[in-house]
Amino acid sequence: MNDFTTRHIGTEADDQAQMLAALGYASLDDLTDAAVPEAIRLTAPLDLPAALSEFEVQRQLAALAARNVPGTSMIGLGYHGTVTPPVIRRTVLENPAWYTAYTPYQPEISQGRLEALANFQTMISDLTGLPVAGASLLDEGTAVAEAVAVAHRVSRKGGVVVVDANLLPQSLAVLRTRCLATGVEIVVAGDGLAAALRTHQAFAVVVQVPGADGRLPSAAELGELAGLAHDNGAQLVAAADLLALTLIEAPAQWGADIVVGSAQRFGVPLFYGGPHAGYIAVRQGLERQLPGRIVGLSKDADGVPAFRLALQTREQHIRREKATSNICTAQVLLAVTASCYAVHHGPDGLAAIARGVHDRARRLAAALLAGGLSLAGDAFFDTLTVAVPGRAAEVVAAARASGVHLRLVDADHVGVSVGEDTGAAELAVVASAFGVELTGAVAGGLGDHHRETDYLTHPVFHAYRSETELLRYLRGLSDRDFALDKGMIPLGSCTLKLNPAAAMEPISYPGFAGLHPFVPEADAAGYAELIGQLCDWLAEITGYDRVSLQPNAGSQGEFAGLMAIRSYHLAHGSANRTVCLIPASAHGTNAASAVMAGMRVVVVATAEDGSVDLTDLAAKIAQHADDLAAVMVTYPSTHGVFEETITEICRQVHEAGGQVYVDGANLNAMLGLARPGRFGADVSHLNLHKTFAIPHGGGGPGVGPVAVREHLAPYLPNHPLVASAGPAGSYGPVSAGPFGSAGVLPITWAFIALMGADGLKRAAQSAILAANYVARRLEAAFPVLYSGASGLVAHECILDLRDLTRRTGVTVDDVAKRLVDYGFHAPTMSFPVAGTLMVEPTESESRAELDRFCEAMLAIRAEMDAVADGTWPADDNPLHNAPHPASRIVAADWVHPYSRQLAAYPAGVRPGPLGSGGRDKYWPSVARIDQAFGDRNLVCTCPPVAAYES
Ligand SMILES: *Cc1c(COP(=O)(O)O)cnc(C)c1O
Repeated sequence: MNDFTTRHIGTEADDQAQMLAALGYASLDDLTDAAVPEAIRLTAPLDLPAALSEFEVQRQLAALAARNVPGTSMIGLGYHGTVTPPVIRRTVLENPAWYTAYTPYQPEISQGRLEALANFQTMISDLTGLPVAGASLLDEGTAVAEAVAVAHRVSRKGGVVVVDANLLPQSLAVLRTRCLATGVEIVVAGDGLAAALRTHQAFAVVVQVPGADGRLPSAAELGELAGLAHDNGAQLVAAADLLALTLIEAPAQWGADIVVGSAQRFGVPLFYGGPHAGYIAVRQGLERQLPGRIVGLSKDADGVPAFRLALQTREQHIRREKATSNICTAQVLLAVTASCYAVHHGPDGLAAIARGVHDRARRLAAALLAGGLSLAGDAFFDTLTVAVPGRAAEVVAAARASGVHLRLVDADHVGVSVGEDTGAAELAVVASAFGVELTGAVAGGLGDHHRETDYLTHPVFHAYRSETELLRYLRGLSDRDFALDKGMIPLGSCTLKLNPAAAMEPISYPGFAGLHPFVPEADAAGYAELIGQLCDWLAEITGYDRVSLQPNAGSQGEFAGLMAIRSYHLAHGSANRTVCLIPASAHGTNAASAVMAGMRVVVVATAEDGSVDLTDLAAKIAQHADDLAAVMVTYPSTHGVFEETITEICRQVHEAGGQVYVDGANLNAMLGLARPGRFGADVSHLNLHKTFAIPHGGGGPGVGPVAVREHLAPYLPNHPLVASAGPAGSYGPVSAGPFGSAGVLPITWAFIALMGADGLKRAAQSAILAANYVARRLEAAFPVLYSGASGLVAHECILDLRDLTRRTGVTVDDVAKRLVDYGFHAPTMSFPVAGTLMVEPTESESRAELDRFCEAMLAIRAEMDAVADGTWPADDNPLHNAPHPASRIVAADWVHPYSRQLAAYPAGVRPGPLGSGGRDKYWPSVARIDQAFGDRNLVCTCPPVAAYES
């Protein structure tokens, strides 16, 4: 093992020896031989390059980045040059306090990122003029598809959607993929949207503002379109450019029902196509249909206003196949970055940036017109389409030679899109490429658009013009949150491991961060090599033949994998095969994805021991002998166990003509130990933001590659604009970006290069050791619900609190919140079994941290006993009242039957130098939050300052 591996794995050799001894095993190999069923066990080492040092990995990544040629991108099509304010890059994007946080399901320890997301929603709501905005979607293309799905759900008429011919091509392609499965028919309005609306009974019409070619439909035209749509019972969906919205009237004013788009150009690097935050906002009445997360305001137990995720009952983890979408991981870190950009600039600053962009586009327009060239239209914001008959390639090549990327539309047209980073030098390059001369003159404009509606009036968008103040605001927000840089986050199924700094730094290299996704492939040679190698390595690790990195979350990988299965059955004349068998314990995304892929979900029961009930499986297979499409199982199971029966399940399903989908989110337990592609599965998705060290970012970015056996390789996603992104002839893309969240792929490349085959295997073994160690230490206090044949768990364990809850009234919620007082993030609550906690320590936690967690849990068990024996009343004890913010501890009237010290400084938290065992108190910024109150009184924008006056 190299130096990095020993730093990545938290337990040291002598700790491991002791932990193994406590479990009764002589070595890691002995332990994992007992835990992993022999039938699937990998015997040979993975064939990966030898592990490299951090220095060497960064040197190689720097060399790869240098082979990309970002130049200045003026290609447009939804991806624009922007300037990330250094204070935001340093304090947010590159700051572990932000990027190592988890999705804010535990709101008491997440008030910082929830506030930043509320700022995001307020910004989107203000700019679109619509009352309710979600926290973020995955990208603009999927946001368009989600908007159409919302409109389809609320309409009672037909299955036709009318789409602007000027929609971004990748958005149209993603929408086509989604509609394949749902059967919605897309009519692309070549002769105008109004004409198409008159001839088709459509449930929605989608308009791009400004269009892909830059033309800005007039406000009058858009108003008429809205009127026509509403008269015909259709919803108007607008895909709008956020920066343009600072100058043109809010879409709600001209009648849009749903507005979607990308927040990329608000300070988020191009990242070769992602990760970027998509946005969505809806009119009143559609809020319960919103896909993705919504941050809402509620109050805590002391009446203090506090944020938390609202309306969660719409989500896939509760509604499963009836969910509003399959979105789980979204793009929190990028949404936070965009909202901080708006806080940094304020409305005047944003408008000034927009005017600067617009004016530079007008200068170019004047020069081009004066040079005798014609433009696609008079009204535009930032993008021009220039007619240069027969000369387009030549113009694009001339600009490229001087470091500017233009868009080659076709042989006769060139697209030019001005960004925040387009300066005088770039304008001169463009003018000279076209052979025209820039003067002081301007031409064209916004037409009849003129924004009158105010935006960003909330004080948060005005208070931070001073960098000192902004720095403190951002620090204040992150201080409220509990991220991995504060302590262990033992969330089962989520694998919150170290995100090594050496792997994180390279994503900011200009060659990776600054590249537009649609540059000529020759200018993305570094990415091409990185992506190719990463696909090969992931194929080797999983035992599959082919990998696509395009899905930008696990949920999207599921959708892509199920679409591959669907395509395979269609190609083999089995259109009737649409039933997807899913065990009752599956992650909520599985069922939601199956429905999106046009499948029917049939639930398979769980046996007494937590495994898939083979009798029920056989019955369901028999019942659906003719229409079985697939089984979708998680391995190791969501119960944290290596099931012995997996090979038997694969065999039975194959025999019945079905395909086997193994949800690979738990791959961390199998690295170097077993390979789903070789033990019988046909397709899996992985979560690089779990197993492969990409940070969770507070709820995204994610990368959910889909890996398949050869027979499914023709059905991986592709992309309309980048041929190398996937096989020709497949169903299309699942993400707007050709390689999804390409910009964070260097993290996984670095992680694998640093670990090597031995290191990865050692990581999985160490994760299994840690989980079994925790299970063993806690099982007397909290029964471990399931274990495998040898009494071992895999990489996580489920602690069963149901009996304790019955006896004491103390719930899993109480334990989760009390852990906050002890300085921990809660384990996964009530998934996959209600009333339990699922603990996944990962390989990165040290023995000391594992012990600290176990001791906190044991202390909590003693507190539960004190409730049970009547020492404390059931409705007034440290568990029931947890967490305890400082404001409570110092309250003049302390009326509880336990001490303030016990409340705030329970065992394990004590003052003193950190290096000598001192441990700072983590203070939650609020007390327990009232979930129901917030759903009854839905507020999804920043509360007015008056709300805080008591
Ligand atoms: C995390 C997870 C998913 C979903 O992944 P996202 O990236 O959040 O969409 C699916 N299945 C399992 C078992 C998971 O743990």
